[in-house]
Amino acid sequence: MIFHVLTIFPEFFEGPFAHGVVKRAQDAGILEIRIHNLRDWTNDRHQTVDDRPFGGGEGMVLKPEPIFRAVESIVARAPAANPARCRVVLLSAQGRLFHQTVANQLAAENRELLLICGRYEGVDERVAEHLADDEISIGNYVLSGGELAAAVVIDTVARLLPGVLGNETSAAFDSFQDSGHGEGLLDCPHWTRPAEFRGWKVPEVLLNGNHQEIRRFRREAALEKTTRLRPDLTAASRPAPAPQLPVPQAGASPGLTAPALSPASHEPASYQPASRAEGPPQGKIEN
Ligand code: SAM
Repeated sequence: MIFHVLTIFPEFFEGPFAHGVVKRAQDAGILEIRIHNLRDWTNDRHQTVDDRPFGGGEGMVLKPEPIFRAVESIVARAPAANPARCRVVLLSAQGRLFHQTVANQLAAENRELLLICGRYEGVDERVAEHLADDEISIGNYVLSGGELAAAVVIDTVARLLPGVLGNETSAAFDSFQDSGHGEGLLDCPHWTRPAEFRGWKVPEVLLNGNHQEIRRFRREAALEKTTRLRPDLTAASRPAPAPQLPVPQAGASPGLTAPALSPASHEPASYQPASRAEGPPQGKIEN
C-alpha cells in the first residue's frame, strides 16, 4: 500500500516511520510512505502556501491552489493500471472520528491513501468540499497541524496490512477489534517473565500450559478490564456500527472514483481472526 502525505513540514516525518514494524514493512516493500512538500506546488518565489482569512480574524489559512495542484499531480501518478486507486483525506479537527473500524476499512480497501496536513487556522474549505474524499479527525482536541494525525493514521492502518506484523493474527486480538477476545473489547492484560516480581505473581493459569483454560482466562480478563475501564465499549452500551467510509462522488476530484467498498465488515478481508478452538493462544510478535 502507498501512503502519501502532503505537508509544509516534510522533515517532521523523518522520525515516526524510522522504527519498528512500520520501518520493517517499508524495508520489505509491503508499504511505501511518500512525503510531499506542499511548497513544491507553489508558483511564486516566496513559495506562499497561506493567506489571511476572508472576513477577518486571527491566523492564516492554507490556500487552495497549491493543494489542488499537488493532489491532482500526485493522484495522476497513481498506478497506471488503475489511476483511481487513491483516497484523498483531509486531516481536520472537524472531521469524522478516526477509530479502529475506520482503520480496518482503510486497510481493507487497499487503495493508496493521500493525507493532507493542515496548519495555522486550517485549510480553505474548498479543499474539504471539492477535493477530499473524506475529512478525518483523530480525536476531540486541536493539534497544531495535521502531521501528527497523519502519522497516527498511517501507523494504525499499516499494522493491519498483511505481512506487517510478525504474527499474522496478532492484530485480530488487539483492543477494539471485533475478531479477538470479543466484539470490540479491549485486549486482555499481558505478563512476561519473571513469574514473580516484588511479590506480585502472574496469574497461575498462564503458567500451566492448558491452552483452553488460557483462552478462557484471557477472554474473561479482557471483558473485566473493558467493563472496568471502558464500559462504553461493552455490548450493552455500544453504539450502532460505524457507517462505511464515504465513497467519492463523481467529479469530486479529478480522476478519483472509488471502487465499491467491501460489504459492511468491520474487519479487513486481509486477515482472519485466529481460531480460538484449537492451537496455542495467540501471542504478539513485534518490535
Ligand atoms: N481552527 C481549526 C479548528 O478549530 O478546527 C484548527 C486548526 S489546527 C490549529 C491546524 C491543523 O491541524 C488542521 O487544519 C488539521 O489539519 C490539523 N488538526 C488539528 N486537530 C486535528 C485533529 N483532532 N485531527 C486531525 N487533524 C487535526
